[in-house]
Amino acid sequence: MRETELTASHLIQPLFVTAGAGVREDIPSMPGVQRLSIAELVEEAAGVRAAGIGSVLLFGIPAEKDELGSGAYDEEGIVQMAIRALKESDPGLTVIADTCMCEYTSHGHCGRLRDDGTVDNDSSLELLARTALSQAEAGADAVAPSDMMDGRIAAIRGRLDEEGLTETPGISYSAKYASAFYGPFRDAADSTPAAGDRRGYQMDPANVLEAIRESKLDLDEGADMLMVKPALPYLDVVHRVKEATGAPLAAYHVSGEYSMLKAAAGAGWIDERAAALEALTSIRRAGADAIITYYAKDAANWLDE
Ligand SMILES: [Zn+2]
Repeated sequence: MRETELTASHLIQPLFVTAGAGVREDIPSMPGVQRLSIAELVEEAAGVRAAGIGSVLLFGIPAEKDELGSGAYDEEGIVQMAIRALKESDPGLTVIADTCMCEYTSHGHCGRLRDDGTVDNDSSLELLARTALSQAEAGADAVAPSDMMDGRIAAIRGRLDEEGLTETPGISYSAKYASAFYGPFRDAADSTPAAGDRRGYQMDPANVLEAIRESKLDLDEGADMLMVKPALPYLDVVHRVKEATGAPLAAYHVSGEYSMLKAAAGAGWIDERAAALEALTSIRRAGADAIITYYAKDAANWLDE
């Protein structure tokens, strides 16, 4: 009689790949999460698969950053090399590539900057489309544009289709809020904006109708799956976007949501396993088909016991 199911097949494991060799670097604000160089990433992905999870979402931390984030669309870039290594070692693993500029730009913004330091939406689209194309060509099974520039889904879809990659789906971060819960991730990906913030292109936490509007626009532009980010503070948004669109929907249980549970569990204040599984079940109950969570591997193992 249980209404909501939570299984490993609903979970997507985010992974951070970094330049270098033999690297397993802890992220202090995200206990249990590490930055991995490619061989270690492949090893970790095997553990994720062994837990029963079929998909990973890949973020790259390049050796060097520049104004135009050129590492994002370099054929020999960190993510492109990692995608090839993952697919070679396990062709059945679904590799989703995060498509954005902020891990690759020296200024930490998600697009190209104008002289006055504001993000230039339209010229950023070309760089994002190039990034998505290079990821798909490297073998990514899906691209997930997280930048929130206007018109990016159409730009990326158009470019992939032109190059014959019509079967590579796009997962749109259609409702990405300007949230305080991203702090630990920015430590992990070293992507805190050097100046200003992302309020110009991320959504106001007070808005839900806007999330529905943006999600419908992204579907019109050709998105195959939508996403709400963060998850727990936005369960109403998950629910309403699902109801309004009926489209496949992911929710991103973000770094701050993870780190709060870890901190409370570390202090002995909550039962980590019960709390994490309750949180993930609630995200499913709200209407998410898939959950991106740093708990993916652990949760899958717990569900298995
Ligand atoms: Zn970004």
